[in-house]
Amino acid sequence: MPPDGNDVLHLTDPRTGESAGAMPCTPLSEVPALVNRARAAGRLWRARPLDERKAAMEKLAAAFLARGKDIVRVLGDEIGKPAGEAWTSEVVTTSELVPAWLEMIDDELDPVEVPLNPINYPMKSVQVVPEALGVIGLIMPWNYPVNLPLRTIIPALLAGNAVVFKPSELSPRCGALLAEIFAASLPADLVVTVIGGPEQGAAVIEAGVDKVIFTGSEAGGRKVAAHAASKLVPSACELGSKDAAIVLHDCNLDRTVAGIAWGAFHNAGQDCASVERIYVDRRIHDTFVERLVAAASALRVGTDLGPLVDARALAKVHAQVTEAVARGARVLCGGEPVGTGFYYPATVLVDVPPECALMREETFGPVVPVAAFDNEDQAVELANDSAYGLCVSVWSKDHARASALAARIECGVSFVNNCCFTGPMGGAAWGGRKHSGFGATGSRWALAGLVHPRTVVVDKSFQAKEMWWYPYTPALATMAEGLVEIGRSGGAKITGLRLAVSGLLGRWKV
Ligand code: NAD
Repeated sequence: MPPDGNDVLHLTDPRTGESAGAMPCTPLSEVPALVNRARAAGRLWRARPLDERKAAMEKLAAAFLARGKDIVRVLGDEIGKPAGEAWTSEVVTTSELVPAWLEMIDDELDPVEVPLNPINYPMKSVQVVPEALGVIGLIMPWNYPVNLPLRTIIPALLAGNAVVFKPSELSPRCGALLAEIFAASLPADLVVTVIGGPEQGAAVIEAGVDKVIFTGSEAGGRKVAAHAASKLVPSACELGSKDAAIVLHDCNLDRTVAGIAWGAFHNAGQDCASVERIYVDRRIHDTFVERLVAAASALRVGTDLGPLVDARALAKVHAQVTEAVARGARVLCGGEPVGTGFYYPATVLVDVPPECALMREETFGPVVPVAAFDNEDQAVELANDSAYGLCVSVWSKDHARASALAARIECGVSFVNNCCFTGPMGGAAWGGRKHSGFGATGSRWALAGLVHPRTVVVDKSFQAKEMWWYPYTPALATMAEGLVEIGRSGGAKITGLRLAVSGLLGRWKV
């Protein structure tokens, strides 16, 4: 539920639809002071050697893993995540983040020497040194409330930043549990947690953080990016999508059906990278659909398939299905809410008109439409016919052909014979194109967004003046012309040398 007058979050257990108590919000008036405390902690933190920061990350990783069972329990209680999924997608994936970043961080934070032409720039060194931005404002969604914040917090801290973390109003208890883990393993105030809804998120931006990293809906991203831009604060936005799977006729059908069923239905379809549209070679369309419907129908609601997060999400998903059916789509399995709470069964549809919301907007539920294509160009056109572009998966035994096809899809991540799973990785870049957002998490490209590249110049020259300083005499022009002639491909080198030397002598005389 949204915040009530900014004071308290009323929580609902999505498995039953019953009240799960309330949690106080961080008062808006306290947010600026919290940001200042993080800023002060960050200054001390970045003065510590990288090895100390690395050791602190190992302590954080140990504290995190020691709370593995608590994390899984809270994920179940708060957003209904099945235990197996909570362990694999939140605990195991997150446990790999610290080792991955420790492996990369020295190289990524190393100063980069700028190669200089010693004739034009004698006795000088120029380096680009990555340095911390300051305070990173992290505004997060509820669907992976543990891994998503940590995939940014770990590299942000290693780079010397402090973080102000605003978990979703739908997963504040996961946020509070992470805050306990930070308190047990990190210097005070290095990661500050702000509990609440959009108002608290806006207050974090307003308080003057140095960068905003937002993961959430397209609508939220537009507001956050505009707000940050109005304060000249840079932002990165990881948003939703409508990802396509393309099934070629030579695929390994068993693996393809199992993989796409998981891609479409894990986390009850509430994954930014869920398979939300399937395009299948017409020659195997009917067989594929029959097998997918069997796989979807076998999923056990409550065990394999958790609930949707709240009543609003359930209504939105069902409205998309209802609209598609009203326009002529056929539901082959699922299609109606089940049980108590906010459960929706795995649902497969065919004959969904392309203009339906189910084909164009993010569904964020366990629902997937299937359509046929006749040739690869048509498959590419269908997959690219979307405002979004996070991932694509292409399924075929011909890996080269599938890779070439995937490369034609306008998106940030492409998979051949797999889907979705690289988002939590420290080493792989994750980020969308088009309305799926901008920026990256994971890899050196994520780190580049968490540092400022400071250029540092040191001049050891004993000369009184540089050649380009005053006075601007004719000798200066002669010397510069000579240098250009020497460097120019096909230039008259002897003439150039003569001009450069005579210009130089002229400068010396001055
Ligand atoms: P949301 O946009 O409703 O909220 C996300 C966060 O932003 C919450 O903490 C919310 O309180 C805050 N917020 C919302 N409006 C704000 C505003 N105007 N100012 C400041 N803060 C604001 O999204 P959600 O429902 O929590 O998450 C689901 C969405 O996230 C889906 O669209 C999903 O695809 C996307 N997502 C993307 C990725 C990715 O890596 N691309 C990963 C996970 C989820």
